[in-house]
Amino acid sequence: MAPALIDWRKRFTGKARALVLPGSAEQVAAVVRLCAAEGVAVVPQGGNTGLVGGATPDMSGNAIVLSLRRINAVRSLDKLNNTVEVEAGCALQNLQEAAARHERLFPLSLASEGSCTIGGNLSTNAGGTQVLRYGNTRELCLGIEVVTPQGEIWSSLNGLRKDNTGYDLRDLFIGAEGTLGIITAACMKLFPKPRGTATALCALADLDATPVLLEHALNHFGALVTAFEVFSEECLRLVLKHFGARRPFAKSSAHYLLIEISGHEEQARTEALLTEWLGREAEAGLVLDAVLAQTLDHARQLWNLRENISEAQAAEGKNIKHDISVPISAIPAFVTQTDALLQGIAPGVRMVCFGHIGDGNLHYNVSPALDAAGDPEPEAQFLARQDAVYRLVHDQVARFGGSISAEHGIGQLKRTEITRYKSPVALGMMRAIKHALDPAGIMNPGKLL
Ligand SMILES: Cc1cc2nc3c(=O)[nH]c(=O)nc-3n(C[C@H](O)[C@H](O)[C@H](O)COP(=O)(O)OP(=O)(O)OC[C@H]3O[C@@H](n4cnc5c(N)ncnc54)[C@H](O)[C@@H]3O)c2cc1C
Repeated sequence: MAPALIDWRKRFTGKARALVLPGSAEQVAAVVRLCAAEGVAVVPQGGNTGLVGGATPDMSGNAIVLSLRRINAVRSLDKLNNTVEVEAGCALQNLQEAAARHERLFPLSLASEGSCTIGGNLSTNAGGTQVLRYGNTRELCLGIEVVTPQGEIWSSLNGLRKDNTGYDLRDLFIGAEGTLGIITAACMKLFPKPRGTATALCALADLDATPVLLEHALNHFGALVTAFEVFSEECLRLVLKHFGARRPFAKSSAHYLLIEISGHEEQARTEALLTEWLGREAEAGLVLDAVLAQTLDHARQLWNLRENISEAQAAEGKNIKHDISVPISAIPAFVTQTDALLQGIAPGVRMVCFGHIGDGNLHYNVSPALDAAGDPEPEAQFLARQDAVYRLVHDQVARFGGSISAEHGIGQLKRTEITRYKSPVALGMMRAIKHALDPAGIMNPGKLL
């Protein structure tokens, strides 16, 4: 049971009566009915890659962990309806591969895709690298199958794009982090597989250029822009150190932009379009240097520089993470001001800032300061400043009209924080919904609310 009782970041541990691995929605329903009758809490768990402690039980030892891992089939794929019916425990990568085998694209893409599950993606409304083009998991979902806290099964898997018959119950369960019921299957949208994809990494002098570059890219390419990711030199340094990758440019720069366009033009034409745009932006002085991926393998290497940042940072020890969003236009001012304020309360801390700039979503992470010998400050000393750092960063987010959780959710980590930043009216409605659907409070207690 041990791996099921600790979260991916090793921040939260818990106890449970049992790890239960049902094999069908009917078995999930039977387990939930038994738990409801006995007053036992249920903690749903998918791939356990969540970053806010949502899938970890508390220390009371009263709950069971209900893993969806065995309920993992791709049930059916309808090419003409562009939909796929998939069980909640299916790993995201397996769903992407199933779609590709049928010449379709399932566009949700996260660095954790080998382990995270569709049920977890829906329950956290996961974002990832292609939100700019295809939306969050919510936008990719047409229907779900759910086991309610009473152990009933409700299904809306008919793949309809239009259904205005009252409250959208599906949307209640998406992003609910397992607090309203257990998702056992879903009907997800598919898209035509792009014929051409071009990927480039650009060196940037500063962050100020990014909103302008995004505007230029959207004006120039329209819906072809699939990804627009930015990371700092410190992020690159960590990835090079822990993954042994080669530095992409001879000289280091303050920031790097990974841009991808894809669409129905042939490969060569797509690459030519991106090359032409890069040349124009270089002439304008917004891009200092750029490398265009020459092969699929080369594109993967460029993507690895971005996708390995979380793991490289984790290998350095504990860090203080913020998963925030602000309006895209405000990103440079937010980062400059907040960096300066942080140095005031925690001198020397290193900013590991990267994110989905195209959606205004930054992983604004803080790593310990280094001493003269290059060793990080003691962990206890660093973590003693955690609450002050959260407060400063989240207050800044609020000042800029942003959100303290752009894509990872609330879980245990930000349960207290949301009471400070979310409107009391919104929190009141959320509590009323929770009470209406789960009056006994057995679904993932202590999370979100
Ligand atoms: C390296 C790395 C990179 C990441 N990158 C991103 C990223 O780019 N974007 C992003 O959004 N997230 C990212 N994440 C976070 C994480 O992968 C996502 O939140 C993912 O959606 C969680 O899926 P999971 O199956 O692992 O869920 P779990 O961690 O098992 O659970 C997450 C939450 O959902 C609930 N839950 C799980 N399954 C169900 C179900 N079937 N029914 C009801 N509730 C359920 C759990 O109780 C918990 O509250 C990243 C994580 C890592 C480790």
